[in-house]
Amino acid sequence: STNPTGWRFDNSYARLPNLFFTQQSTNPVSEPALVKCNEPFAESLGLNTQSLKSDEGVASLSGNAIPEGAAPLAQAYAGHQFGHFNILGDGRALLLGEQITPEGKRYDIQLKGSGRTPYSRGGDGRAALGPMLREYIISEAMHALGIPTTRSLAVLTTGDPVYRETELQGAILVRVAASHLRVGTFQYARAMGTIDDLRALADYTLERHYPEVQAQENRYLGLLQEVINRQAALIAQWQLVGFIHGVMNTDNMAISGETIDYGPCAFMDAYDPSTVFSSIDAQGRYAYGNQPKIGVWNLARFAETLLQLLHEDEDKAVELAEAELSRYYDLHHQHWLAGMRAKLGMINEEPEDEALIERLLELMKVDGADFTNTFLALTYGEPVEAALADSAEYKEWHQVWQARLSREEAGSEASSRLMRASNPVVIPRNHRVEEAIQAAVNDGDYSVMDRLLSVLATPFVRSEEHAAYAGLPTRTDLPYRTFC
Ligand code: AMP
Ligand code: MG
Ligand code: MG
Repeated sequence: STNPTGWRFDNSYARLPNLFFTQQSTNPVSEPALVKCNEPFAESLGLNTQSLKSDEGVASLSGNAIPEGAAPLAQAYAGHQFGHFNILGDGRALLLGEQITPEGKRYDIQLKGSGRTPYSRGGDGRAALGPMLREYIISEAMHALGIPTTRSLAVLTTGDPVYRETELQGAILVRVAASHLRVGTFQYARAMGTIDDLRALADYTLERHYPEVQAQENRYLGLLQEVINRQAALIAQWQLVGFIHGVMNTDNMAISGETIDYGPCAFMDAYDPSTVFSSIDAQGRYAYGNQPKIGVWNLARFAETLLQLLHEDEDKAVELAEAELSRYYDLHHQHWLAGMRAKLGMINEEPEDEALIERLLELMKVDGADFTNTFLALTYGEPVEAALADSAEYKEWHQVWQARLSREEAGSEASSRLMRASNPVVIPRNHRVEEAIQAAVNDGDYSVMDRLLSVLATPFVRSEEHAAYAGLPTRTDLPYRTFC
């Protein structure tokens, strides 16, 4: 069914066994106001922006009215949080339903910060404005960088306070995802359901995300393979732009292969694999350089949930799962290596390439060189930071690299083009993100955020405006800490 706003909902998730969700009406808020609306994205979903901004549209985004065809529910899931297994679920989010776009694509429409649910445990079910704006900025930046991610349709203030260490403005993020199926959804099925529930979930997932695998002889093995493939690629993509997810719990790993849950994530400035921003990650479990290893740890938890479906003989099932998991490091490495070659303009493949890449990273680490700007300087033939530029080891590396590029069959222009397309000029630097959020939250001034979003939308362009956003944080901006 349709309406002036263009909502066209289906509710396929609600047709799964009851175990997987609790149907619940939305919780009204006092004074909903649309502070950020992603207009081009809204239009691509088949929504009418004018109508979305009207009182009726805002009511539908805030939970004050349930749009026609929506059937709100809170999803149940489990997860290993910092290695510890817990039964979780949407404690502060509701799935409105699945929007069917004019092209026939299906996207979850989720209200995050929409109030308490049966899965809220001790939580208030609400979200503060700052973190919702932060998710909006970073998820949209990731999308523009070409990295699979959930998207942000809108942010609304609720008019209701939320209490953290201080009183803050409450907000709702309207999040759009290929789905919110997680490794943790499968863990929930395994822990709480029957084999039939698990099979229903796996078949649903195949239909929704991996239809091409359905005809395969062992379709559940196909599912495992595809999820491994997508995560291996995704985590490599994160690393290539210096992204640190920050809370790679199994409930925050999407089966679709999208980046999900922008809590304590941040982009690294100075290159150091041990970089951690999250205030709660004292052990560095989710540090930049640990991400590939955590990826396969999470995928092993996923594989465990599928064992009964993989083979009736448990030993054989374990063998199949282990064979797939053992492909992960090589797959991830191939994605990473291909991406690093591109960042350095290398199109041919030579056996020494990996050593050349590793050598540069080693020197960057020793000298604390900025990850993004070092590759940018190399791309545009400009001097790298002094500490690096002045070192004899770097000068030697640079000569070897230049000699390597001179052997490129496609020529130097092709190498340059590849580097320009592979090295972003602008990433959402922590101090810039913070400044945009502060202006919005403290002064109701969204112009700083709008300017930031506009350069982040074209991260590979190098205009004067873009160059202004490539600047490094000053000493007073450090150290940077993020919170869930
Ligand atoms: P996250 O760290 O955002 O991945 O969330 C982990 C779990 O905590 C999920 O089940 C969330 O729904 C839940 N949660 C986070 N914040 C709140 C909150 N303010 N109220 C209720 N549940 C929450
Ligand atoms: Mg989460
Ligand atoms: Mg979160």
